[in-house]
Amino acid sequence: MKNNFEWKYSPAPESTEHIKIDPRYDLFINGKFVKPLSKTYFETSDPATGKMLASMAHANEKDVNTAVLAAKTAYDKTWKKMPGKERGKYIFRIARMIQERAREFAIIESLNGGKPIRESRDFDIPLAANHFSYYAGWADKLDYAFPNRTPKSLGVVGQIIPWNFPLLMAAWKIAPALATGNTVVLKPAETTSLTALKLAELIRDCDLPPGVVNIVTGFGNTGAALVNHSLVNKIAFTGSTGVGKLIQKSIAGTSKKLSLELGGKGAHLVFDDAPINQAVEGIVNGIFFNQGHVCCAGSRLYVQENVASEVITKLKARMQTLIVGDPLDKNTDIGAINSEGQLKKIKDYIQLGKNEGLEIYQPECGIPTKGFFCKPTLIIGAGQSSRLVQEEIFGPVLSIQTFRTIEEVIEKANQVPYGLSAGVWTDKGSKIFNLTSKLRAGVIWANTYNKFDPTSPFGGYKESGFGREGGLHGLQPYLSF
Ligand code: ADP
Repeated sequence: MKNNFEWKYSPAPESTEHIKIDPRYDLFINGKFVKPLSKTYFETSDPATGKMLASMAHANEKDVNTAVLAAKTAYDKTWKKMPGKERGKYIFRIARMIQERAREFAIIESLNGGKPIRESRDFDIPLAANHFSYYAGWADKLDYAFPNRTPKSLGVVGQIIPWNFPLLMAAWKIAPALATGNTVVLKPAETTSLTALKLAELIRDCDLPPGVVNIVTGFGNTGAALVNHSLVNKIAFTGSTGVGKLIQKSIAGTSKKLSLELGGKGAHLVFDDAPINQAVEGIVNGIFFNQGHVCCAGSRLYVQENVASEVITKLKARMQTLIVGDPLDKNTDIGAINSEGQLKKIKDYIQLGKNEGLEIYQPECGIPTKGFFCKPTLIIGAGQSSRLVQEEIFGPVLSIQTFRTIEEVIEKANQVPYGLSAGVWTDKGSKIFNLTSKLRAGVIWANTYNKFDPTSPFGGYKESGFGREGGLHGLQPYLSF
């Protein structure tokens, strides 16, 4: 089906001339960049072109130890004694400096992660700054946040983050930890560490006391060294369910606190009384605009049978207008898949759909020949037990099923190992409230999707993890009472 009102946009790429990326980055420990004891570096590239962007240090156990000791000293000597009001000033300063350098952060995020500049410019970076502002406000109000209790900081926290929202995840982790009086060792994901290193420069320039935030780059073994360090009192992890389980096993029996934000398989429930056009836009936004690289992506669509053909027809028409291509182009809707391995995984799932004999729909749009790109894809009619419905694909792939009754759709929506997010599309407020208590999902959006705010808690049930980030709830994992 071809769209009969095809828009042709001239390319509008964001300039990268003012962006400064060093050829090589060291580890950020104790307020400065230091050479890794491991003496090893690895490269990071632009997934849209394959171009090498920089090399960065691969921290080993000794490097992680140096970072943790710096964080411990900063905690004992400075940070835990500092009044909340003073801590808050530093955190506000970080927020302001991110705002001042927002354009630079957005471009580097898109260069290194492949996400469209529109997303990094309008969503990731402003929200990262907002998280710092929001938690800065709590730093001197912890006694009000938890009345009649005595909140105490934990000490050194180890934080490990994934590649899909590099700066935003760093903000989600660092801001509440600092506001509650802890010091931090953060490990960004190996494919997307550049904005975390830029954040390190900013933290150095804002005169945060040395050692309060340390950033160590590396791979899984770097993360594991952080998890297993005896002076780390809490681990906050966002990433795959497999690694989350490994972490949980390795700290079992220790007194370390843990919060896990893991995978998801978000469901849209579209009822026949829903605003259909709005729902179609929400569905497209929820799975395609970020290449599906979102743990709360709406990757399953359950549509009421009597409106299924209308919804699917409109969805296909909307997909014809999506632009897949250069992440730095302001017109781009779908950027690059983050890595070759991830692209292969997504293609394997699409092939699985073909093997199962399902209807696969992709628009006729072109995709760049270089780099890692994938067309937005619908897989229609997979059974509930299919791997396409049960497993997290982490790509622009939406599986569609129909339903007849509300009981049936609740059962299907809940019948996956995950419980992170859901979207309910209906005209009836009573139906929304009914569903919010029955859907096992940490976040449920009504007649919208993927809306975030620092004041709202986010987190999952079941294999999507535990602990909440954001809002007042997001302070708790960093405190003892
Ligand atoms: P994703 O599939 O989202 O990349 P991963 O769970 O593989 O998720 O990675 C998330 C983060 O966890 C990354 O920073 C990665 O380097 C780190 N990591 C991977 N393996 C381990 C491990 N065994 N222990 C601690 N951290 C790990």
